[in-house]
Amino acid sequence: MKNNSIFPLFPIPYSLFPILKFICFSAILFISGCNIFPESQAEKTPEILPVESIQLPLPTPYFTEAKLIAVGDIMMHGMQIKSGYNSQTKSYSYQSFFTEVKDILSAGDWVIGNLETTLAGPESGYTGYPLFNAPATLADAIKWAGFNILTTANNHSLDRREKGVLKTLENLRDRDIYPVGTAASLAESQEILMVEKNEILMAFLAYTYGTNGIPIPEGKDYLVNLIDEQKILQDISRAKQKGADIVTVALHFGAEYQRLPNTRQKQLVENLVDGGADIILGSHPHVVQPYKFFKITEENGDTRQAVAIYSMGNFISNQTKKYTDLGVIFQVNIQKSFPEETIEISAVEALPTWVHRYRKNGKLNFRILPLEEVVTNKNDPLLKPRDYLLLEKYLTQMNNHINSFNKLEVGKVSKE
Ligand SMILES: [Zn+2]
Repeated sequence: MKNNSIFPLFPIPYSLFPILKFICFSAILFISGCNIFPESQAEKTPEILPVESIQLPLPTPYFTEAKLIAVGDIMMHGMQIKSGYNSQTKSYSYQSFFTEVKDILSAGDWVIGNLETTLAGPESGYTGYPLFNAPATLADAIKWAGFNILTTANNHSLDRREKGVLKTLENLRDRDIYPVGTAASLAESQEILMVEKNEILMAFLAYTYGTNGIPIPEGKDYLVNLIDEQKILQDISRAKQKGADIVTVALHFGAEYQRLPNTRQKQLVENLVDGGADIILGSHPHVVQPYKFFKITEENGDTRQAVAIYSMGNFISNQTKKYTDLGVIFQVNIQKSFPEETIEISAVEALPTWVHRYRKNGKLNFRILPLEEVVTNKNDPLLKPRDYLLLEKYLTQMNNHINSFNKLEVGKVSKE
């Protein structure tokens, strides 16, 4: 007879089965972690811990930081073009524009400015206002100074028509500078510039209010990005979908020589910030307009910060009208916390700059000076004591002006 008993060698009386079942059941519960024993008994068996008390090690939290540095209009008037000419070598060089700000700029991870001239080659001649075309060696100097991104969407993008747009893009890319705001093809215009630094992915978008009445060639709207709120909002969304941690929008807008933004600037900035822009960099007025912090409450209740500078003024130019020789180096520190991957604007700083024009070797020369450093050190070989008095005044005025929105609009904004 086949024996189907589970205890073939030791037949167990049926009366013992309930006890056996209890022992088996208790063992299963014990092993699986359901502690049915009193506290004291559980303490005697420390090698088997209840599941609840087993904790997986959490990933170690850490954060990374990267710095965005932005400046306003890099202009190239006729006298500036001449200032870099060497008649012996028949070449142009512009490093001296940036010598005194190179260290500050080079400390940035993303370093961006607005190139308000074409670099269209020597064939059509080098000219300043009103149709700008500068030697491509300007881009060498810009790269040398620490820049890695330039906005090319501005009212002078088409100063040498389509050819100028294309040649400028080529000259920048040849020097490993990312252009943003103009494009050589439709496909290129649809790509979003994303640059990763220290595990932080920043998207860059750039647009201009217009092209000084020079028409964009028919069917080639892709050449220059014009300000179109709906399009910008779509581009911001696309950047976020593509994984951008932070979206920076450069806007060439506003009224020239106005030290405060107009209603249209303010409205556009507000709408873009609401639509997901994190940093807005304004240029075009040729004078500095203040910056402002924003705190946005998202639909899910989360809050997000943003910062906008309405105009960074002229970084370099031969403009002499009041305030046009002043600019700002705008710095935004971004912090990303892991493992949450949250982003925070951890610090904002605006360093006023001044364009020093001086005569040397029989011609006019130009250089950008960081005001605070210069008035603190007072050891510049080209400045006289009376210059420092003026520069100290400029520095105080500029610091008050740049920060003025954050003092006036208390409660609406949160300062860092
Ligand atoms: Zn402009």
